Amino acid sequence: MFANTEIGIDLGTANILVYSKGKGIILNEPSVVAVHLDTNEVLAVGIEAKNMVGKTPANIVAVRPLRDGVIADFDMTASMLKAILKKASKNLGLSLRKPNVVVCAPSGSTSVERRAILDAVRSCGAKNVHIIEEPVAAAIGAGLPVDEPIANVVVDIGGGTTEVAIISFGGVVNCHSIRVGGDKLDESIIHHVRKTYNMLIGERTAEQIKIEIGYSPIKHEELEMDIRGRDLVHGLPKTITLHSTEIQQALTESMFQLLESVRTTLEDCPPELSGDIVDQGVMLTGGGALLNGIQEWLSSEISVPVHIAQDPLECVAIGTGRSLKFIDKLQTVSV
Ligand code: ADP
Ligand code: MG
Repeated sequence: MFANTEIGIDLGTANILVYSKGKGIILNEPSVVAVHLDTNEVLAVGIEAKNMVGKTPANIVAVRPLRDGVIADFDMTASMLKAILKKASKNLGLSLRKPNVVVCAPSGSTSVERRAILDAVRSCGAKNVHIIEEPVAAAIGAGLPVDEPIANVVVDIGGGTTEVAIISFGGVVNCHSIRVGGDKLDESIIHHVRKTYNMLIGERTAEQIKIEIGYSPIKHEELEMDIRGRDLVHGLPKTITLHSTEIQQALTESMFQLLESVRTTLEDCPPELSGDIVDQGVMLTGGGALLNGIQEWLSSEISVPVHIAQDPLECVAIGTGRSLKFIDKLQTVSV
């Protein structure tokens, strides 16, 4: 049985991860749920649901309920969470019996939504549920000494949002959140290909392009990639070759918005903490931290050291899991 089990949940806009104390990450799936519209029955969750996106009949929807960083559809989010916890306990081969849970709240969620996260987790049988701020979890997962009185700066680049936070003494001193993340970069690529080549590509192709030949605004050796899509004029499939420089160009605007958000947060930093930032630098977490050249580019723009967390995609989950140990020292979010 799962008695006295402690788990951490990263409820991300792109990926949801479950961390179990002692076992590490026991589930890592896309934040997608497929629901029957007539009965509200959950048909699939995670990767199975992601594979259904855009391919479902009219009475079934496969959605990302946390898209854009806000909880667009709370009932869907709660349903997804329940199905995910079921899957997690199956992965573990044990039933999730009265676990203690730390779950991070997406930025911009209201107290009503946080309450609903609590309720959803509790309805899955959790005994104690704590909600912590996502950047705090990211910082803990990245190994930063968050409970010390020094400035820990985290830039968490997720699917829907980028959160920039300064954390000291276990709490957020200063935080900015913008709706620019991996999804926005993918959209820019889709837009570029449509405008330049009259060709329609899907979200997954755009994401692959970003991962393979997407670059931050730095000098680099040019790469090429062949991609397939649908010609908008003839309606037929076609193949074109894309170059990393044009993709880089398409991503530039979003990258500078992200930079602006980092700058603003650093400028608003209390002076006593500013000195720390020069020494400690900035820690990048989230999937966006893996974008080619981002470390080099950001550090040259803000003139402080930039580090990439060891497992950027797993930081928040690891952080929520680790925070189970010193939950009393953290400022948990009140609901
Ligand atoms: P969230 O916390 O919002 O669920 P994640 O931290 O899981 O988001 O990051 C997901 C985002 O990271 C997606 O937009 C994905 O395309 C992007 N991503 C993943 N790997 C890479 C990579 N190697 N290069 C650039 N972006 C990446
Ligand atoms: Mg995240």
